[in-house]
Amino acid sequence: MRRTPASLVAFAAIAMIAAPSAQNESNSRVAPAASAAPVKPVKEDPRAERLKGEAVKEVESMKDFTQQMVDSIFSFAELGFQEKETHRYLVDILKKNGFTVQEGIAGIPTAFMATWGSGKPVIALGSDIDGIPQASQKPGVAYHAPMIEGAPGHGEGHNSGQAVNLTAAIAVKKLMEREKLPGTIRVWPGTAEELVGTKAYFVREGFFKDVDVAMFTHVGNELAVSWGDREGTGLVSVEYTFTGQTAHSAGAPWRGRSALDAVELMNIGWNYRREHLPLDHRSHYVITNGGDQPNVVPRKASVWYYFRHTTYERIKELWGIGDQIAKGAAMMTNTELEATRVLGSAWPQHFNKIVAETTWTNIQKVGMPEWSDADQKLAKALQKELGSREQGLSLKVGGTNGDLQGPVRDNRGGGSDDIGDISWNVPTVTLRFPSNIPGLPGHNWANAISMATPIAHKGATAGAKVQAMTILDLVLKPALVDQAWDYFKNVQTKEIKYEPLIRPQDRPAIELNAAIMERYRSELKKYYYDPSRYKTYLEQLGITYPTVKQ
Ligand SMILES: [Zn+2]
Repeated sequence: MRRTPASLVAFAAIAMIAAPSAQNESNSRVAPAASAAPVKPVKEDPRAERLKGEAVKEVESMKDFTQQMVDSIFSFAELGFQEKETHRYLVDILKKNGFTVQEGIAGIPTAFMATWGSGKPVIALGSDIDGIPQASQKPGVAYHAPMIEGAPGHGEGHNSGQAVNLTAAIAVKKLMEREKLPGTIRVWPGTAEELVGTKAYFVREGFFKDVDVAMFTHVGNELAVSWGDREGTGLVSVEYTFTGQTAHSAGAPWRGRSALDAVELMNIGWNYRREHLPLDHRSHYVITNGGDQPNVVPRKASVWYYFRHTTYERIKELWGIGDQIAKGAAMMTNTELEATRVLGSAWPQHFNKIVAETTWTNIQKVGMPEWSDADQKLAKALQKELGSREQGLSLKVGGTNGDLQGPVRDNRGGGSDDIGDISWNVPTVTLRFPSNIPGLPGHNWANAISMATPIAHKGATAGAKVQAMTILDLVLKPALVDQAWDYFKNVQTKEIKYEPLIRPQDRPAIELNAAIMERYRSELKKYYYDPSRYKTYLEQLGITYPTVKQ
């Protein structure tokens, strides 16, 4: 439907609603029903539409900057807690652009909090940065073609979100400086999101205490936003370690006690119990230590579980069942269950109605990117390769119904994101931007294919336009922030209060993935993107776009 460039659509839309009578949203934006006190209506700032139009133009002019960030972080291909190159790269850009950066926050070497500006509102822009194991993939090639066999890669698309936020932040900062607008912009990374490993710690260490609104972005195949309870789950990620006794496995097996037996019996116990767990739960595990060699009875063995459910209480229940089964396995094998480790956690997500509505208005103004024939050819070839419906790329904004999505009614479970923890501490939304291809499995090489191509670049630019416009709305209309807090206090958290899933003794699991990255980093370095020599990463790799099976 939208065949004109996104920027033109945006300006046409802005021009159309520029008449003050038509753009006054305050009448329709009533305070939530459960409000304790009436909240001031939003007063339109006469500068808002003009400045938002300028911000869109500024973002459009920064598209090479955006593309270089998307491509660079793709090429680093770093796993959670080991995002060293990505961290350095982002911090350097932020500093160069006038941000003050606190590095290594919450005891996490690859986490930071960058700040620019002063006063209210304080707006915190976040997005994840880590990749997926085994997802190495040549971009722009519509079949499995690893760059490095077995290496990590951006098989979800977390290489694109910081480009969205930094582009928006820098564009808006320029306007705020010129117009002398009060307000503070923070930029922070969702470090180790694939391990849901950090955001609860950011909250615990007080990094969101003075934040007015958290604007999160996540890659998707749509330009969309939602409010209320989200589909999916929260989780706790727990490692169980058993200690037994070594012995010669053939010479004197009766002298040994096998920790691996305990791990296996725990898994068998859990899998029998699974039949009697609610259908909307999810649980899975990997054995992280299965012993040393067969002729030595394993003294130590560990298994790592994700317990997912749709509410905090039910996550705790699952966790309790896991602990009980682990104790049973230790008893059966006469081994000891060590103190458990929480390696990650996430609350179920709930997004703010007011911020989502504001974002949605801007999404409609920006519209979808204009996809080229080459973009569609890549998307359809990949969908064919995977046996998915050959639908190509999304053409209209919004969720599956093309609209702003409200609270999920029938939550059948699914994935998690530790943005959930932040969403229960400050008004938060996640903007999903269209840098990926519909119909993919997720956490897979296929999800990396578009992520350093024009699809990802255009999707990130569209996302940055929406972010920039929404920041300006929040800066210029303080009543929006008040309304967001009214919803947060009087609707969202009226009955449900945040309690962290991490325990006081838990610490970020910063050693995770160190060995894998150690193994692949020198090989990966050969493929780091060099924007000083190549316009795009595809050009550097010498890939014809798109490369599809004939
Ligand atoms: Zn993600």
